Amino acid sequence: MDDRVGRDFTTQVAIVGGGPVGLVLALFLDFYGVPSTLFNTEPHSRWHPKGNGQNARTMEHYRRLGFSDDVRRLGLPADHPFDQAYFTRLAAYEIYRFPMPSRDERIAMRRQMPVTDQLPEPMFHVNQMYVERFLLERARTRPNIDVRFGWDVERLTQDATTVRLSASKVDGSREADWVAPHAVGCDGARSLVRRTLGIDYEGDVQTRDAYWAGQFYSIHMRIPDLYPEFVGHRRAWMYWAVNPDPATRGVIIALNGVDEFMMLVKPSGGRIDVDVEEVAGWVKRSIGADIPVEVLGHYPWSAGQALVAERYQAGRVMIAGDAAHLFTPTGGFGMNTGIDDVANLAWKLAAVLQGWGGSRLLDTYETERKPIGYRNTGAARKYASLMHDPVVPEEVELEGPRGDAARKAASEISYVRKNHFVRPEAEDAVGVQLGARYDASPIIVPDGEPPPDRFPEAYDEYVPSGVPGGRAPHVWLDDARSQRSSLFDRLGRGFTLLSFDAAAGTAPLTRAAVARGIPLATLDVRVPEARGLYGRALALIRPDQYIAWRGDRLPDDCEALLARVTGH
Ligand SMILES: Cc1cc2nc3c(=O)[nH]c(=O)nc-3n(C[C@H](O)[C@H](O)[C@H](O)COP(=O)(O)OP(=O)(O)OC[C@H]3O[C@@H](n4cnc5c(N)ncnc54)[C@H](O)[C@@H]3O)c2cc1C
Repeated sequence: MDDRVGRDFTTQVAIVGGGPVGLVLALFLDFYGVPSTLFNTEPHSRWHPKGNGQNARTMEHYRRLGFSDDVRRLGLPADHPFDQAYFTRLAAYEIYRFPMPSRDERIAMRRQMPVTDQLPEPMFHVNQMYVERFLLERARTRPNIDVRFGWDVERLTQDATTVRLSASKVDGSREADWVAPHAVGCDGARSLVRRTLGIDYEGDVQTRDAYWAGQFYSIHMRIPDLYPEFVGHRRAWMYWAVNPDPATRGVIIALNGVDEFMMLVKPSGGRIDVDVEEVAGWVKRSIGADIPVEVLGHYPWSAGQALVAERYQAGRVMIAGDAAHLFTPTGGFGMNTGIDDVANLAWKLAAVLQGWGGSRLLDTYETERKPIGYRNTGAARKYASLMHDPVVPEEVELEGPRGDAARKAASEISYVRKNHFVRPEAEDAVGVQLGARYDASPIIVPDGEPPPDRFPEAYDEYVPSGVPGGRAPHVWLDDARSQRSSLFDRLGRGFTLLSFDAAAGTAPLTRAAVARGIPLATLDVRVPEARGLYGRALALIRPDQYIAWRGDRLPDDCEALLARVTGH
C-alpha cells in the first residue's frame, strides 16, 4: 500500500489506466509481491461491451494468476454453443453456421488431449466488460493494490530517480501527488502518458480496402424476446445478418445467453449522428421483427487502425496496451496483445524493484514487445483484408427454389467464409496467440538452432519448440485423466530450471541464484515427450514462461548466465 511522505503518497509502480491491461498489470505485480497504485478515471469498470475474445495466451496468464476457471464461468451459460451463424435476418432463414463447442464440451475435449497438448487454456469467448468487472473485484481484494478508481491523472513528470504524478478525484473532492520509482501508462488510445512522453504512433490510420474499416457503431441492448421467440432452438454466439439492407450489416453477439446482446454495425456513409430510435431500428431490421429492444448504450468507434507507438519506454515510464498499439478488430488481438505486454513487463519491474534485475532489464520490454506490436497489428490487417462488404441480391429473402439458390450462393461469399472478426476455432490464429518470440533479445541466450516455425509470418501456426526465445512448450504431467496437472502450474514465481535428465546437475545454478538473490526453483520432469519437446536435458524458464536458455549441462559460469538473463 502507499505511504504518505510529506505531502506526497509513495508507491512502487503507478499504473495510469484501469482497463483490462492496467488491471492485469496490477495483478501480476501483486503476484510477484510488488505494491502498486492503479488510477482510473471512471469510478467503476465500464459497462459497455467491447472485445469478445480472451485468447489462449491471455487465458494462460489468468491461469498463472489463479483465476482462469473463474473467467470461464463468466458470460454465456456452460451449455451455450459458441457457433457463428449467418441468417438472412435472425427471424428468417439460417444460411450457414460454423459450429463451435460450448464451455462444457470444450472442457470435456480438453481431458482427451495428448500429453503435449499446447492449448491447456483454449481461447474463451466472453465479453471484456464482464472480465473487467471481475478483474476489478479481484484487484480490490489484494492488499498490494491500491485501487484508485474515480481518480484522473492530470500530470506526470520524471527525473533520474523518480516519477511524480498529480491526480484528482473526478468528483472534485480531492487532489494529491504520488511519487514512484516507475509508472506505466495503460491509459488507452488517447494516452496522456504516451503524449506526455512525446511518443507518437507510427503506422496506418486506416485500412482502406477492407470491410472492418471506418465508422462502426457498438450497441449494447436487452432483447428479452429474442431467445424465446426466434433463436432459442438455433442458438449461436454470433448472429450475422446477410441481406440487401445495408442498415443491418453487422453482427449481433450474445453476451449472457438470456437477454443481453451487443451489435456491431457499419452505418452507410460513416454516420455518427444517430439517436436511440434509429439504433433500435437497425437492430429490429437485422432481426426482421418488430420486438422490444432496450438500447442500454450506443457508441461510435473506428475500425481499421494498425498503429504502434514509436517507443514503449522513456526513462522510468513505460506504456502498454492500447496506449502502445491500436488494432483493427479482426482476430481479436488488441486487448490480448496488451495483456501479453504486461505479462512481459511485470516480472522485469519486480526484478528491478526487488534488486535482482539488472540496469538493462527494463529496456528489454520494448526490445521484446514492440516487434510483437508490429507483428500482431499486421496479422489483424491481413485478416481484415480477406473480408469484403457483400453485395447481397434481393432474392436471398424469397421463399422457394429461387430463394434457396440465392441463399446457397450467399453462404459462399467472403463476408461469410473469410470472416475473421473473431476466428471461429480456438486453434485459428494460434501462431499469433502463442507464437510471440524474442529471439533478438539480449536476455535470451541463443544456442544456434533456428526456431522451427516461420516467425513472424506464421499467424496460423504454432510449433512448440525448446529453442530459447519462445514460450515454454506445454506438457500435461499426469495422465491420470481427471487429475492432469499442467507443467505451467508447477513453475515457480521466479525463474524455473527444468531438468529432464537426472544426470544433468542443477546445483551450481541454484547456488548462484541464491548468491545473487534471484528467485529460482528447480523442477524434475521425467516425461519422455517433454524431453523431446525441449530438445535438451535442461531448460531455464523465465517468470513469464519464456525459455531463456537450454543445454545438456549447466555452463561452467552459472553466474554469467544468470547475469545475462536478468539484464545485468
Ligand atoms: C468493438 C470492439 C471489439 C473489440 N474486440 C476485441 C477482441 O475481441 N479482442 C481483443 O483483444 N481486443 C478487442 N478490442 C480491443 C480492446 O477493447 C482494447 O484493446 C482494450 O480495451 C485495451 O485495453 P487497455 O486497458 O489498453 O485500454 P482501455 O480499455 O482503453 O482502458 C484505458 C483506461 O484508462 C483510463 N484512463 C485514461 N486516461 C486516464 C487518466 N489520465 N487517468 C486515469 N485513468 C485514465 C480510462 O478511463 C480507461 O478505463 C475490441 C475493441 C472494440 C471497440
